[in-house]
Amino acid sequence: MKKLLRHTVLAATFTLMAGPAMASGHGGAHWGYSGETGPEHWGELNPAYEMCAKGVNQSPIDLTGFIEAELEPIVFDYRGLATEILNNGHAIQANYAAGSTITVAGKTFELKQFHFHAPSENTIDGKYFAMEGHFVHADEKGNLAVVAVMYEPGEANEGMAKLWKQMPHHPGDKEGMASQVKAEDLLPANRDYYRFNGSLTTPPCSEGVVWLVMKNPVSVSEEQVKQFSETMGFPNNRPVQPVGARPILK
Ligand SMILES: [Zn+2]
Repeated sequence: MKKLLRHTVLAATFTLMAGPAMASGHGGAHWGYSGETGPEHWGELNPAYEMCAKGVNQSPIDLTGFIEAELEPIVFDYRGLATEILNNGHAIQANYAAGSTITVAGKTFELKQFHFHAPSENTIDGKYFAMEGHFVHADEKGNLAVVAVMYEPGEANEGMAKLWKQMPHHPGDKEGMASQVKAEDLLPANRDYYRFNGSLTTPPCSEGVVWLVMKNPVSVSEEQVKQFSETMGFPNNRPVQPVGARPILK
């Protein structure tokens, strides 16, 4: 109940700030998180975005009704650092040096970038988190696997502090990383996860994305959540989509 209240208060605080940052697009049709270009309209904005409306395996979802499965641990082999940080008008994104991989169920994917949403996009048993990080990986054929991390208010996160120090405040701005930010600093120590098949959570909402949602949240400070939403506007999350016939494994 306390969490829900805090969420409502944050939402009210940031409604007024959701203007300019949301109004920019980059490539393709202009889209955003509210009003006429908001998530309910993405499918109509551009023929290339039709999956946003027609897809049946869309993300995000509410993770609930789990099926017990013997999920093998994800093997993280992260070696590099974030190389640049950008504001793409929809999220703050850190691009990652080549050579960091995860291997899951015998398939290897390379970490390309990570970015953030507030509040979370996926929910767990109906619960929203203050923020969600998406660590986007691709294999050689371009198939995607996203490791999702939930953040909840508590102690400040050191990795996020380094990132936010260099946060580009205007859509389209990009900076080289001055300090060394490792993706591991933003992941939980315990990497148990839920798995389901879904889509990109932004246009064009392409499907065939493997989602690996960390069960354990990582703490960030309320101030860090606020800094992010002041720049990006609040919210920058897509509402949860129907699960349909998909199994959610745990
Ligand atoms: Zn995302």
